[in-house]
Amino acid sequence: MIAATQSNHPMGALSQPKAAGSPLDEALVRIRNAQMRITKPRIAIIESLMQHAGPVSIECIHQEVGASVCDLVTVYRCLSAFETIRIVRRSYLHNGTCLYELTLNEQQHYHVSCKACGKTEKVEYFSVDGMERMLQDRGYSEVTHVVGFFGVCPSCQQVAPAREIAPAMTRSINAAMPEVQA
Ligand SMILES: [Zn+2]
Repeated sequence: MIAATQSNHPMGALSQPKAAGSPLDEALVRIRNAQMRITKPRIAIIESLMQHAGPVSIECIHQEVGASVCDLVTVYRCLSAFETIRIVRRSYLHNGTCLYELTLNEQQHYHVSCKACGKTEKVEYFSVDGMERMLQDRGYSEVTHVVGFFGVCPSCQQVAPAREIAPAMTRSINAAMPEVQA
């Protein structure tokens, strides 16, 4: 690593080693390595994902990126391509809403999502590499996987033990996902 010669700021020396591996830089390196083009929508989508600690819906990303930058189908296709090169991971809510999150420079994990309030929490990762290798041995390429857990969170159990679970789901997250398949 190069010493922090260009930094006068006291924090400069500390942040220097990280600069090369900022999430956006890392993502762009991986996109280039995958022989994919770096486009304005792709950068905007990564920047949008970077603003969220957890998974976000495609529509939320589209809103943040802005309709002038690209349409919803483009967002979907970019995320699908990002998933293939493993810079995002896909997960689902109980109602089937598809979510994506950035997986750069971060320990792998899964999620548990509350069927009542939609709140999502991280769950410890367990490896399914063996399963993926087995599928590759069977001739599958570009193997990815989705693992999700669903339940009613402790606070929802206390607040409304007898409440109907499913109808409450659409509140915070856009439920109307278009039927777009790449
Ligand atoms: Zn809940």
